[in-house]
Amino acid sequence: MTTAFYSDERCFWHGGGNYAFTLPVGGLVQPLAGGLPENPETKRRLLNLITATGLIDHLSPRKAMPATWEEMARVHPETYLTAFKAASDTGGGELGLRTPFGQGGFEIAALSAGLARAALEDVLRGTAANAYALSRPPGHHCLPDWPNGFCLLNNIAIAIRSVQAAGLARRIAVVDWDVHHGNGTEAVFWEDPDVLTISLHQDRNYPLDTGGVEARGGGAGLGANLNVPLPPGTGHRGYLEAMARIVLPALHRFAPEVIVVACGYDAAAVDPLGRMLATAETFRAMTRMMSEAADTLCSGRLVLVHEGGYSEVYVPFCGHAVLEEMSAATIHAADPMAETLAKRQPDARLDAFVSGWIAEIAAAHGL
Ligand code: ZN
Repeated sequence: MTTAFYSDERCFWHGGGNYAFTLPVGGLVQPLAGGLPENPETKRRLLNLITATGLIDHLSPRKAMPATWEEMARVHPETYLTAFKAASDTGGGELGLRTPFGQGGFEIAALSAGLARAALEDVLRGTAANAYALSRPPGHHCLPDWPNGFCLLNNIAIAIRSVQAAGLARRIAVVDWDVHHGNGTEAVFWEDPDVLTISLHQDRNYPLDTGGVEARGGGAGLGANLNVPLPPGTGHRGYLEAMARIVLPALHRFAPEVIVVACGYDAAAVDPLGRMLATAETFRAMTRMMSEAADTLCSGRLVLVHEGGYSEVYVPFCGHAVLEEMSAATIHAADPMAETLAKRQPDARLDAFVSGWIAEIAAAHGL
C-alpha cells in the first residue's frame, strides 16, 4: 500500500486580479510582478523538488476528476456557485476578499476540490494507505457563500460531504495547522457533531476577528470545534506541545474514522504571512504524530490537503519532509535552512510562556 499523491498542472494555472502582495494595486501601491502571495510557485516547486530527489517514485501519483456541481452544492449555496461560474465564464472576477480568479477559474477550483475528494475517497476505499492532495486554490477560509483568503471553494468540506454521502465514513476529524484560522471549515461544520474541526493558528492573524477559544461550535455541534490560537513566535517545541497536549487527546476523545489535515506551511519561520517559528522538522514531527494517531484510531487512514504557505523557497522542503514521513521513504532532502532556523528557536523563557498559554487553552477545552 502506498502514499497516493494527487496533483494537476492546471491547478498551477489559477490566477487573476491585480495585487501587490495582499494589497490591491492603485494609489501609492505600485504593481508587483509576483502579485498575490498565493501564487503557483510554492506548490509547483514542491512538486519539482519531490521529482528532483526521486521521492515521487516512492509515491503513487494520481489524477482526479473535478468536483461535480452536486458535490460542491452540498457545501456551497447554488447562488454562490452560479455567480462564480458566470464570472468565471466571462473573464474572471472577484466575489469576496482577496479571491481573484481568471477565465475558467471555476473549473480550476472544482479540480482543486476534486483532488481533495479523490484523496479522501481512495483512502477510505482502501486503494491507498494515506494520501496527499496538492490542491490549489486552497480551501480552508472559504465560507459556504463567501470566498476569502485566496480560497474559492472549501476543498476539504466538499471532500468530507462527498464521502459521507457515499456512505464511506461518518465521523471525520479535521486538523488544520495552517497558520491562519480555518474559519471556512469551522463555519461549514459549526453545528455538526460528526465532524471534529481543530484549528491551530497564530492568534489574531487572519481573519482578525475569528479563531478564539470560546468558539466551540453550536447546537448539536457544540464542543466539536476546537480553536487553538497560539502566540506569535511559537516555534518547534510549542507546536509539538500543542499537538500533544490538545490535538491528540481531542482526537482520542472523538475517535474519528479518518483524519484529514489542512496542511498549510505558513507557520514556517520564514513565511511572509505568518509570525511563527516552525521548521521542516516541525512539519515532519506533526505528520508523524498524525500518522501514529491514525494508526491507533482509524487503521492509519490519514489524508493531507495542501492549504497555505508562501515562502517559495522553503515550502518545498517542508512538504518534502511531510511526504517522506507519510511514505516512510528513505529519500531525504536536507533542509538548507535547518541550522539558521534552529538558532532562531524561542529560548527557554519564551517556551515557558508558550507552555503556559497552551495549558490555558487545554483547560478551556476540558483537556
Ligand atoms: Zn494560511
